[in-house]
Amino acid sequence: MNKHIPVTMNCNTDNGWLSVDQARARMCDSVKVIDGFERVALRAGLNRMLAQDVISPINVPPYDNSAMDGYAVRAADLPASGEAKLKVIGSSFAGTPFDGEVQTGETVRIMTGAQIPQGADTVIMQEQVQRTDDAITIGIGHRQGQNVRYIGEDIQQGGSALQAGKKIGPAELGLLASLGIPEVTVKRKLRVAFFSTGDELRAIGEPLAEGQIYDSNRYTLYGMLTQLGVDLIDMGVIPDVRSEIENAFTTAASLADAVITSGGVSVGEADYVKETLDKLGEINFWKISMKPGKPLAFGKVNNAVFIGLPGNPVSVMATFYQFALPALRRMMGQQDIDPVIVKVPCKTMLKKQPGRTDFQRGVLSRNDKGELVVDGSGMQASHILSGMSHADCFIILPAESGNVEAGTLVDVQPFAGLLV
Ligand code: AMP
Ligand code: MG
Repeated sequence: MNKHIPVTMNCNTDNGWLSVDQARARMCDSVKVIDGFERVALRAGLNRMLAQDVISPINVPPYDNSAMDGYAVRAADLPASGEAKLKVIGSSFAGTPFDGEVQTGETVRIMTGAQIPQGADTVIMQEQVQRTDDAITIGIGHRQGQNVRYIGEDIQQGGSALQAGKKIGPAELGLLASLGIPEVTVKRKLRVAFFSTGDELRAIGEPLAEGQIYDSNRYTLYGMLTQLGVDLIDMGVIPDVRSEIENAFTTAASLADAVITSGGVSVGEADYVKETLDKLGEINFWKISMKPGKPLAFGKVNNAVFIGLPGNPVSVMATFYQFALPALRRMMGQQDIDPVIVKVPCKTMLKKQPGRTDFQRGVLSRNDKGELVVDGSGMQASHILSGMSHADCFIILPAESGNVEAGTLVDVQPFAGLLV
């Protein structure tokens, strides 16, 4: 039998560290939805946030119509026993309705989507009738209104079809098109500036000297922010030099709604990053009870929200998804920002030390019974970016949990559900 470990991400830590839930709530609560909206053509609204409720100008469907190919009849003509014979007086096609009225003893041939003719209120599937030249015979077992799609059944004229804050996806594009709406009012795009900090970092294209590494965080951040659909301001790599850091923060804050950096927020390290931030804004340096990720800086520089992610590449992705993403979504005016979490049994034993909430990198697969199972995606250290690439989900193990036995139900956050 599967055992289940609940995710209690709001456990209180006695060392002053914040739980994942506490940090996320503090960030989301302290950011504001940006002002400003624009009108764009419907298709350009894809992945944008509606800034106003959409009131439907029409009923959808706009008229009662048939759900089947068959015959439109009056329910009063349905036989209670035996059979009834009805005269076929015409046809109603999708786009070409029948323009008479169905009287007692009559029927109209009707196609899927075609308007129900006046007088009729019920559709009999063509497979359920016997047709002769000009008549049909129907038996018992039908009910009034069957196979009819009613006017306004999907959306009513004057009703709210979509609410402000809804992200426009493919279904919403189609729904708005079904209302005949050519333009939408969406929130303006969020502007996000980002840069990497660290003397050891080189941009790709430059040669690496001893002790240097390529800056990868700006690329993962570019990817995640682009998928989120914000306007990006890529400010490159900033060395650990007081004046350059100060300039970078000031410029970023003047250009963007939010500034995201990586590196330089660990304890005792690069003190002038903290010094600069203290001088320029209101910044909190948090230790979060999570792995990977622990250090995080959050606050404001002038009017911009500042999120300082840790430096290790996997920590950047984990903290971006858990904290920056919901906060940015809130700023963008999006309503549904809760991550998708499903419970899946783990395939093998998962190693864990009690203490912090783990966001292990996992891979979903099917066992020989066809059931979904999850396994770790190899090395779990926070500098192993290939583990992130092999993975398709986070396995979230609660702070107090130790090693997790094979078969235990664990919380899984699929990457596919993170950026929808
Ligand atoms: P820090 O938080 O600045 O102490 O960085 C922690 C670790 O992450 C160090 O090993 C850094 O070299 C590494 N690191 C920091 N920034 C980046 C980056 N942009 N790309 C790749 N690795 C980084
Ligand atoms: Mg550094």
